[in-house]
Amino acid sequence: MRHDESLPATPRRPLRLAAAAALLCLGLAGCGDGDGPVRGQAGPTATGAATPAPSAPAPSSAVPTPVKSPSRTASPSASVSRTPAAPTGPLSGKTVVIDPGHNPTNHLHTAEINRQVDIGTGHKACDTTGTATNGGYAEAEFTLDVAHRLRKLLRAEGADVVLTYDRDRAFGPCVDERARIGNREHADAVVSIHADGSAAGNRGFHVILPAAVRGGGADTSKIVEPSRDLGTRIAGLFVRSTGSSPSNYVGGKTGLDVRKDLGGLNLSTVPKVFIECGNMRDPKDAALLTDAGWRQKAAQGIADGISSYLKG
Ligand code: ZN
Repeated sequence: MRHDESLPATPRRPLRLAAAAALLCLGLAGCGDGDGPVRGQAGPTATGAATPAPSAPAPSSAVPTPVKSPSRTASPSASVSRTPAAPTGPLSGKTVVIDPGHNPTNHLHTAEINRQVDIGTGHKACDTTGTATNGGYAEAEFTLDVAHRLRKLLRAEGADVVLTYDRDRAFGPCVDERARIGNREHADAVVSIHADGSAAGNRGFHVILPAAVRGGGADTSKIVEPSRDLGTRIAGLFVRSTGSSPSNYVGGKTGLDVRKDLGGLNLSTVPKVFIECGNMRDPKDAALLTDAGWRQKAAQGIADGISSYLKG
């Protein structure tokens, strides 16, 4: 609303490809996380009884806050698309990792993306193809488009922004690698962008928060609370920016869900949430998701939520 709704995708930036990017996930213990078929809140740790997303405080002054040292140990095991921050801004010194869900060419690599990877509490496919609207607009294209818009907004506030991928690989990353990229970057916040593929009539967005899980390589004990703060702010400001309602089929209309079956959350050691921006299989939601102006509002809402969280 506050921005040019016909804003084109951010100009492509040079990618910094690590040497072994072409290795993808082969031979590793695991790869990425789709939104997966399981959509329950099973288990005592799934405390989906979230309070309604509040309108997050909007600090008017840039109060100096401790800045985490973004010591970057460039791992050769992954490629990322890194965009330098603006020289100054309220988010200077902060690192945000944006994870565009799926990959538009995953469907050409079914064997690779179906490989099981370790998500800490079990095993799951490396990645999934994602969904699409009935008209054929792929979720993976949607997620990249929103990611580019979000990157531009966050950069303008001075954040250092890293994308987990940007059309620089044939499939994936696998879900575990998506998590590792955020960890390696010591990200102050990570958001995985998605749109859902549920039944027609199911509408609205929801933000997925990590459950408290521990097992294998997963231990979310340190990120559950900050992730809830991040996700709650995003939900509240997503409503404000898009006018969309919280999901009418997940999360009890709070706009928040808690899951322990997503490797991208289970394996994260930094605050992280997913957002399902709408339901691609519902015609009314699809009309929004395919509209560039709406996607700009969606990116703005997510950016506002991240910014609110990072400013504290
Ligand atoms: Zn998805």
